[in-house]
Amino acid sequence: MQAIRRIRIANSFQAGILPKSLRPWIAVLSPHRSYSEAAGDTDLVVIGAGPGGYVASIKAAQLGLKTVNVEKWPTLGGTCLNVGCIPSKSLLNNSHLYHQAHSDDFKQRGIKVNSMELDLPGMLAAKDSSVSQLTGGIVHLFKQNGVTRVEGHGSITGPNEVTVAKNDGTNEVIKTKNIMIATGSEVTPFPGGGIEIDEKTIVSSTGALSLEKVPEKMIVIGAGVIGLELGSVWSRLGSQVTAIEFLPHIGGIGIDMEVAKGFQRILQKQGIKFKMQTKVTGANRQGDKIVVTTEQVKNPDKKEELECDVLLVCVGRRPYTERLGLDSVGITLDGKGRVPVNKRFQTSVPNIYAIGDCIEGPMLAHKAEDEGMLCVEGIKGGAVHIDYNCVPSVIYTHPEVAWVGRSEEQLKEEGVAYKIGKFPFAANSRAKTNLDTDGFVKIIGDKETDRILGAHIMGGGAGEMINEAALAMEYGASCEDVARVCHAHPTCSEAFREANLAAYAGKAINF
Ligand SMILES: Cc1cc2nc3c(=O)[nH]c(=O)nc-3n(C[C@H](O)[C@H](O)[C@H](O)COP(=O)(O)OP(=O)(O)OC[C@H]3O[C@@H](n4cnc5c(N)ncnc54)[C@H](O)[C@@H]3O)c2cc1C
Repeated sequence: MQAIRRIRIANSFQAGILPKSLRPWIAVLSPHRSYSEAAGDTDLVVIGAGPGGYVASIKAAQLGLKTVNVEKWPTLGGTCLNVGCIPSKSLLNNSHLYHQAHSDDFKQRGIKVNSMELDLPGMLAAKDSSVSQLTGGIVHLFKQNGVTRVEGHGSITGPNEVTVAKNDGTNEVIKTKNIMIATGSEVTPFPGGGIEIDEKTIVSSTGALSLEKVPEKMIVIGAGVIGLELGSVWSRLGSQVTAIEFLPHIGGIGIDMEVAKGFQRILQKQGIKFKMQTKVTGANRQGDKIVVTTEQVKNPDKKEELECDVLLVCVGRRPYTERLGLDSVGITLDGKGRVPVNKRFQTSVPNIYAIGDCIEGPMLAHKAEDEGMLCVEGIKGGAVHIDYNCVPSVIYTHPEVAWVGRSEEQLKEEGVAYKIGKFPFAANSRAKTNLDTDGFVKIIGDKETDRILGAHIMGGGAGEMINEAALAMEYGASCEDVARVCHAHPTCSEAFREANLAAYAGKAINF
């Protein structure tokens, strides 16, 4: 094993900025250029420590691969832990509690609160504490499992070489048998430009996780998953929220239309306003206000101006592969900026793999994790199989909305004969006791075989319950199979069982 020797190269000469044609010369000419500790005997370099990359790194080390993880951010966990799933769920949970205490909800439960107020800095601190505990946990897991961590921007400088422009200004070259690209995604800017994000008053999801005060009026561009979650947070904390959506439905791709309609009605009752099939054409600062201009999708002459204090731009995320050096090994991106891979997650260079948000498929943390683990098992010679139909989606509002498998609309389009079983939470004993009866479970079964094709749940705890549906679907269960499984009473999951019973037998018991 070679000792680590570090070199300082002038900033402009750091990997990624250095012209490609000069890089080999620098390597030859520089008497100081050398390789990391792991030179030569590293089995896998993972670029990125989001849920895809960090899970893959740990799994690889557990399977005996000498693994180096390269991450440019000072904390591990990627988008999910730092500016995504975790901070948003902290705010969703705590703003829901605030809302319950602040609205009539507590009163109807026999809880009187004489004086209560929002401590926004405290709520943000609770969020930051959850984030730092979890990101710190990965540092510990890396140590425990023997993953070597290298901090800095990694670029591929050859099929078996990653060069890291380290945060301390030095460069480190790592020779490796395999490379995994797990560089994730970034916020998609507003199409056509014109709306500059400052993360203070015109914010992306990142800025919306740390607003210093509750805006009087907030406009959210995009009523997809992230827009609805963050819009809910600020609405519960007292902001008048208007969501502007291009599509005729909320909830993004894959949501069942019956669920989407009911969900929109509930959010409207909670105080969120929606402008559907409406296109935002621009936004201008006027004093300390932002004026957003819109036009109707079906009738562009119908224009409107709306004013707000904070504008949240939530039009999606795009794969991130900046300065990754893909061209140095001949990997070309697809039309959507994603790294193309085969079923074993191999790129066009067989020992270079890619997983997570930077490849095709839903941009979800659990999808990235699964791909990371499977990819590593594949590198070790194992079978690689992932059924994307069984990857669940969750919107963590209240009620939560969750689904897995096919929607009715998709099945109609595919010409598949199906049957439906439904059960409302209004008839579920636990939901009734919890005074939380909004929503229902909808099961879609194959008309011929009774196999579960899709599960769509709106209700408190839907995000937990959907995992039962995913498990059933992974094992090819029929509606009858689930209906015959004993479910603990009283639980909201009994509604899931009843909906399966309704799909299989034509009738539920308690409704
Ligand atoms: C507000 C919000 C809420 C979300 N909520 C959920 C949710 O509830 N559930 C869910 O499943 N998903 C959620 N997501 C999506 C989820 O965060 C992503 O799908 C997930 O993080 C993708 O994981 P990844 O490992 O592919 O990439 P990322 O998490 O994006 O990680 C990529 C990492 O690679 C690093 N990197 C990139 N390039 C380089 C380089 N060249 N060198 C070194 N390091 C590099 C980045 O710094 C980053 O740390 C949410 C996202 C947002 C924004």
